[in-house]
Amino acid sequence: MSKKVMLCAISNISSGNCSEDCSFCTQSAHNDSDIDKFKKKPVEQILKEASIAKQNKAVGFCLVTSGKGLDDRKLEFVTNVAKEVKKRTDIMLIACNGIASYEQLKELKKAGIDSYNHNIETSESFYKTICSTHDWHDRYKTCQDAKKAGLMLCAGGIFGLGESEEDRSEYIDSLRSLEPFSSPINFFIPSKSLKVDGEKITKQKGVEIIKKVKKALPSTKLMVAGGRELVFGEDLGSMFKAGAEAMVIGDYLTSKGDEPCRDLRILNNLGFEPQSSCHE
Ligand code: SF4
Repeated sequence: MSKKVMLCAISNISSGNCSEDCSFCTQSAHNDSDIDKFKKKPVEQILKEASIAKQNKAVGFCLVTSGKGLDDRKLEFVTNVAKEVKKRTDIMLIACNGIASYEQLKELKKAGIDSYNHNIETSESFYKTICSTHDWHDRYKTCQDAKKAGLMLCAGGIFGLGESEEDRSEYIDSLRSLEPFSSPINFFIPSKSLKVDGEKITKQKGVEIIKKVKKALPSTKLMVAGGRELVFGEDLGSMFKAGAEAMVIGDYLTSKGDEPCRDLRILNNLGFEPQSSCHE
């Protein structure tokens, strides 16, 4: 019997110019990164990306907007996009729109969003070091409200920002208290514009991190996301052996991913078959 892997694709539907000062993020206006910046990606383009995601065997398609959170205009944009994608493509929809209220999350659910992605990023103690413009608690509360609103929760974080092992343990404890359905594991991608004095995550460290998170959250699907290429290269087998069961396929928000056909070939050679639904 072949092993299963869950694949998800990301679409950056509103990019850059974020007022927040998250030190690891190229979309922050404070970091002056050379990235594409736009308020609204055209719906036709998003529909095309959803269809490519489906061709690349992604079971989920994530609509990501930059910024601290949702306001009325952004909520209207995301709900309209969600309805259009649902009409044309049979794919699970994830929204990732920052801090959101319970009412806004209910609206997303009504528009056909299945899951909400909001990362708590790191430990509450370390968060102040990487962001001064909003509070870790607001992030945590959004995750709780997403579940209350009937959305599946996808909550995770980022490693390699200079956090200690204690911070990692504290982060994992917080994550465990949220019991997310899935959890992205991101590894910091250095960039000239980002002033992060972090630790370069080696493959061995990446394996240790995945094992540690999996041990604490055995029922959560761990998804290796940003930085996968830097840490694991072509050795996707090591991630899955350590406990990952999912990964992002295609490009990230502001950086290129590996070629989907190459990743699919590697997965196939390892005996993995992409899931056709997220509940397999
Ligand atoms: S709030 Fe989100 S988009 Fe804005 S800087 Fe932080 S991580 Fe980046």
